[in-house]
Amino acid sequence: MKKELLYSGKAKDIFSTDDENLIVSVYKDQATMLNGARKETIEGKGSLANQISSLIFEKLNTAGVETHFVKRLSEREQLNKKVEVVPLEVVLRNVAAGSFVKRFGIEEGQSLSRPIIEFYYKNDDLDDPFINEDHIDLLQIATSEEVDYIKAETYRINDLLRAWFAQIGLNLIDFKLEFGKDKDGKLILADEFSPDNCRLWDADGNHLDKDVFRRDLGSLTDVYEIVLKKLEELH
Ligand code: UDP
Repeated sequence: MKKELLYSGKAKDIFSTDDENLIVSVYKDQATMLNGARKETIEGKGSLANQISSLIFEKLNTAGVETHFVKRLSEREQLNKKVEVVPLEVVLRNVAAGSFVKRFGIEEGQSLSRPIIEFYYKNDDLDDPFINEDHIDLLQIATSEEVDYIKAETYRINDLLRAWFAQIGLNLIDFKLEFGKDKDGKLILADEFSPDNCRLWDADGNHLDKDVFRRDLGSLTDVYEIVLKKLEELH
């Protein structure tokens, strides 16, 4: 199925297939932070992130969200529609954490009165800077109609995900999404959804996400395993 390596990212390798509209994503056993400045091999992480992301994307597809997810192929591999990635990291926050806390001096854990969306320009050389809708328009990253669509989809995805995670006792604090254009130019959800790019807290405020790695709180794979088990119950 896999033909040639198209791209090697921090968390995944992307391969072409015999079908020009499909790619294979291979999840790596690697955790990075600070734009790759800290990097560690964590055995089992790739498989867990792939399984979690596959379950969530399947549920999103079933709920009518257009995504790049086709199917999970193996422990580490999934089949995806090929997209032209929109170079935006779309962050939605329900609760103050991470860079939001640092930037605005708000206490971590404070619920926001409504979900908010932030954009970052996906550009490693520039360290993914914070960017607003005027910048997105000016730099021709996306049209204002596309930005409106991305925002509406992100709010809808948040409503779905928040409800699913609440059913398994987890609070969805924040997350990052990426969108891309499929062969017909349609914007669809791409990349992954796993504890690598979201924050999940249990009822006692324990972190079940990549903050375990960022803040040295214990075994990353142990908490990813807990998230996967809980999601499988939901399935
Ligand atoms: N996030 C991500 N990739 C990034 C930056 C952030 O997936 O390059 C996710 C992160 O896991 C969190 C959310 O986006 O769920 C908000 O991250 P934040 O801006 O607070 O930055 P952080 O503190 O994670 O660096």
